Amino acid sequence: MMLNYEGPLYRPPSEANSLIFQVTLGCSFNECSFCDMYRSKQYSEKSWDEVKMEIDLMAKQLPDTRKIFLADGDALNLDTEYMIKIVKYIYEKFPSLERISCYAMPMNILKKTPEELKKMHDAGLNMFYLGIESGSDIILKKVTKGAIAKTIIKSVNKAKDAGYIMSCMIILGLGGKTYSKEHIKGTAEVISACSPNYVGALTLYLENGIKQEFLNKFEEPFIQINDDESLEELNNLISQIHTKEEIIFRANHGSNAYTIKGTFPQDKQEMLDKIEWMKKHPEIIRPEGIRGF
Ligand code: SF4
Repeated sequence: MMLNYEGPLYRPPSEANSLIFQVTLGCSFNECSFCDMYRSKQYSEKSWDEVKMEIDLMAKQLPDTRKIFLADGDALNLDTEYMIKIVKYIYEKFPSLERISCYAMPMNILKKTPEELKKMHDAGLNMFYLGIESGSDIILKKVTKGAIAKTIIKSVNKAKDAGYIMSCMIILGLGGKTYSKEHIKGTAEVISACSPNYVGALTLYLENGIKQEFLNKFEEPFIQINDDESLEELNNLISQIHTKEEIIFRANHGSNAYTIKGTFPQDKQEMLDKIEWMKKHPEIIRPEGIRGF
């Protein structure tokens, strides 16, 4: 018997081999105009009886599990004591477990006290995936992110201080042509100010169901950037990130036209050199038909 997931189910690409427990359903915010992941769901939390039953079931079937991801969109919205109860029980039942992670919004982190974050980390919750999306307040407002640059920086630093590994996402093209410069400048500033352990760059891809809503939030016509401009955004982003801390940077998501990866600060120049090379080799571009969010 397997778990009965309530779809659609999402997890970060790096959690592809993880066991997933859906301790919450949907997203407690659910308003970002570029995201249609949980539009079909109302946010809710599973009861302890349901969660326990699922943990017990999978502990018998996959006792050697090493990585667990807690779904859906922002499991960190759970009450701290409830989260600790779940995390502790999971470690009891999976003796080989190395990591438990979940998605988090800046607001989820800011709502917790440093002590609460520390307690959950001590219990074994190790890693958060957080969408920065953009560091420009103009764009963050236009896409209804529910956060501004300052709160994003504060939340990432707060979680890092409590010991969490932070994996953050940004979206190339989120400001369209009009706000491209502003988008990259702000995003590089946010990344430089909080140095997440991982940064993944995706490229804006609007599903039909939300496209009109997204476009309506911009008063001026929204012109999507093309592949050359996307590579230029990547170039400018990398060159404007200044950090002494290590950031593992990846722009290898299925939505991207080009693939770049490296670790800041040491690989910065190498990544920029590779982009210069790519500009002369458009044949390596990922075909549009196989791109997606
Ligand atoms: S991007 Fe994250 S916070 Fe925003 S609606 Fe989607 S799941 Fe919720």
